[in-house]
Amino acid sequence: MTRITAQPGIMDIALYQGGQSHLAGVTDVLKLSSNENPLGAPPSAVEALGAAASGLHLYPSTDHAALRSAIAQTWGLEADRLICGVGSDEVLQFVTQAFAGPGDEIIYTEHGFSMYPILANMAGATRVCVAEHERVVDVDAILEAITDRTRIVLLANPANPTGTLLPMEELERLADGLPDYVILVIDGAYVEFAVGYDGGISLARDRDNVLVTRTFSKIYGLGGLRIGWGYGPQAMIDVMTRIRQPFNLSVVQLAAAEAAVRDTAWVEKCVALNVEQRARLTGALRQLGLACDESHANFVLARAETVEEADAAEAALNADGILIRRVAGYGFPEGLRITVGDAEQTGRVIAALTRWREGAAA
Ligand SMILES: *Cc1c(COP(=O)(O)O)cnc(C)c1O
Repeated sequence: MTRITAQPGIMDIALYQGGQSHLAGVTDVLKLSSNENPLGAPPSAVEALGAAASGLHLYPSTDHAALRSAIAQTWGLEADRLICGVGSDEVLQFVTQAFAGPGDEIIYTEHGFSMYPILANMAGATRVCVAEHERVVDVDAILEAITDRTRIVLLANPANPTGTLLPMEELERLADGLPDYVILVIDGAYVEFAVGYDGGISLARDRDNVLVTRTFSKIYGLGGLRIGWGYGPQAMIDVMTRIRQPFNLSVVQLAAAEAAVRDTAWVEKCVALNVEQRARLTGALRQLGLACDESHANFVLARAETVEEADAAEAALNADGILIRRVAGYGFPEGLRITVGDAEQTGRVIAALTRWREGAAA
């Protein structure tokens, strides 16, 4: 047994910590800890999923042609430059596994998504974490960190957990400044919530080294189903497809995703709700003395002045059955990441925090 050892990097992986979903003794829990859609899954996708049940004895499509075609039509993309995965996490795994290995470096940023260091270790590559500037990705710091061993730069835009958005000019400056042997991955999990931003698709379209990823987990409310996709240069997609399992997506995943991506009315409705409640929540948090940057995603990162103050705010929310995400692991021990809910849920958050401030003042 002792001669059985894991590949380099694997034992350095700290297991991913998801958002909390239970509170002892509370039945009416409001889960605002995992950036899930307050409206649930689109009825169109649920219906398609049910209809797909008659074909459960048949293997799913290996090339995902119907889903890729639906994505291509909806977003105006070339279907042969798309790859679909079990969540966008799997697409990120394809790119890190296919293009980086022992001795290679993968760059991510100070407050970057916690899957990035995990993915680097899974590939056996070296993690390089670069500082941000005021909670925003710092293009110059990334460019300075590039070496001849750098293979991949991973960043989410809008970012999680900060919710900040790197402007298109900056993203373009980064893409232009990278050596041609470095892949820029723009993780677009929250793209739909950033009004007027194309998620970097225009950058990926005419460059050989840019990949964008998308997910059905956030705006489409299908986090439990696990579907995501990537769009990149043909040559990169060809490489990644070779390490994709032929049946990685089930018939129900494919059917639901295809219906969801065509349901543009659903996206519009969810975006409108989010934009409205996000502004309301941000304004209320600031009024209550909790700092927050403008968010371009479906959550807001509130920053207390001290860890103790954050603990007290979280306790007040928990006492009212509300779960949020503490983000100490992301470099914000005094931070509370709160998913933007519907009007009633946002009202519940604001009321709980208002009572907490009033109680502390009394
Ligand atoms: C939620 C999230 C994802 C999506 O992961 P899936 O595997 O598609 O569910 C990807 N990147 C970031 C930054 C996220 O927050």
